[in-house]
Amino acid sequence: MTDPCGACGARGCEELFHGLLALDHSRAEPWGPLHGVSVSCFLLQHPARLPADGGAAARGLLRAYLDGGLPAVDRLIGRARAANSHRVTGRSAPGGAVPPGREAPRGGFAVTVEEVAQDGTFPAAGFPDRVRAWAAATLEVWGPVSP
Ligand SMILES: [Zn+2]
Repeated sequence: MTDPCGACGARGCEELFHGLLALDHSRAEPWGPLHGVSVSCFLLQHPARLPADGGAAARGLLRAYLDGGLPAVDRLIGRARAANSHRVTGRSAPGGAVPPGREAPRGGFAVTVEEVAQDGTFPAAGFPDRVRAWAAATLEVWGPVSP
């Protein structure tokens, strides 16, 4: 058995994440459309991998998803594309980054990639609900988008 991850607390999270990315890249429903949300959750639960904005864009994306669902995410990504950036997670959004002197959270997430994966295969049934719970649990630990 793999040891729990020091960042997110799940077992075998790296392997699970690669499995999820493979599903995302197949562009099949329900995984493909949720790719940006899944990646944002995973990065925010592994803060060492966040881009220079300290997770501001990823948190903004999760907030948009929880508030307005995929249409809100699509609008956000559309704006990022218009701003000549193909990686929404690499975009800076002032006010949402980790405040100076405050550490990014470590662990304590009620939902991790392990729960979303279930038996390790990310079953399609209920997948969007599990991703929503993943996003909510992630933002809960990170706190409000604009501290
Ligand atoms: Zn992990």
